[in-house]
Amino acid sequence: MYFDKPFLHQASFNKRLKTTGGRYHLSSHQLDFNPAILDVYDEEVLIGIIKHELCHYHLHIENRGYKHKEKEFKELLKQVDGLRFTPQLREPPERKVYLIECSKCKKTFQRKKRLNLSKYRCQCGGKLHYLSK
Ligand SMILES: [Zn+2]
Ligand SMILES: [Zn+2]
Repeated sequence: MYFDKPFLHQASFNKRLKTTGGRYHLSSHQLDFNPAILDVYDEEVLIGIIKHELCHYHLHIENRGYKHKEKEFKELLKQVDGLRFTPQLREPPERKVYLIECSKCKKTFQRKKRLNLSKYRCQCGGKLHYLSK
């Protein structure tokens, strides 16, 4: 509808996509979309992602500039009002991490285990303390 030309290949939801919203396969011309988009965002976002992938699709099939940095891609994306980036999708729940801060240079570190910080120092020589419990 937005491109005024038909989509002649397959599009499907693929649960294996993690943080990407969609993917265009250069070899098979298939499109994959992440069903988790609809858990987090409304349909409008999914449509924006579909438009984005269709820009890759149509330009690639027509041998035009289909890559993100190419002018034709940028122009077509703007024309159909597609999304430039997939909005951040929720990551699968991570294991707890401990956040450590250097009291001198304020640099922060993440560790999976709780350490006895009195034994360690920052690279700058500063003392370390926990920012998380
Ligand atoms: Zn893309
Ligand atoms: Zn430091």
